[in-house]
Amino acid sequence: MGLFAQALPLKFLGNPVLRQVAKPLSKKEIKSSSTRDLIKGMEKTVAKYEGVGLAAPQVGISKRVLLVVVPETSPPIPCTVMINPRLTDTAPSVDSIGTWEACLSIPGMFGFVPRRPNIQVDYLDEKGKPFRITASGFPAVVIQHEIDHLDGKLFLDHIKRDDLMCEEEWMSRNYDIDQGFGNWTKTELPESETSNFEYGPSN
Ligand SMILES: [Zn+2]
Repeated sequence: MGLFAQALPLKFLGNPVLRQVAKPLSKKEIKSSSTRDLIKGMEKTVAKYEGVGLAAPQVGISKRVLLVVVPETSPPIPCTVMINPRLTDTAPSVDSIGTWEACLSIPGMFGFVPRRPNIQVDYLDEKGKPFRITASGFPAVVIQHEIDHLDGKLFLDHIKRDDLMCEEEWMSRNYDIDQGFGNWTKTELPESETSNFEYGPSN
């Protein structure tokens, strides 16, 4: 596809790919043209639907690739690709924050989802370089939502019965959703950190 990359068709709730645990990419795969095309297609897709994140299983590819793009935060999160991401701050979180979430794979539904307020995620970029993002508030919510997709989980799995609504009902309630709260920072990790990632088999 290359230069002519198009938005990719989405997979919707009920499609088994959304329930699979996605596979990590090998070092070779990260640099492959098929991964480059996948990322370009995912970027087009998230832009077309004005999403704040997208995971490869949502376009039918069961691989550990996601992207996040949150223009509302200050500073905004530019479109950021995360390969083989892992939450590295595993301390149990006493507090949780809740926000109304939606998902491109579950159109017309909104759910109030409890999430950890602060996270730390280590990931590889498109070139296989290791980075760390620490995030709070909405950016932390988005990253947790997308990592869930890589583990075959959906926001539906986290919510109480009365916290799930059709769009029409949700709209009638005029909830205020704030996508601008929270913060994030990104740091490059030393190359030696690549040994702490799980990679797929090289062939
Ligand atoms: Zn989703």
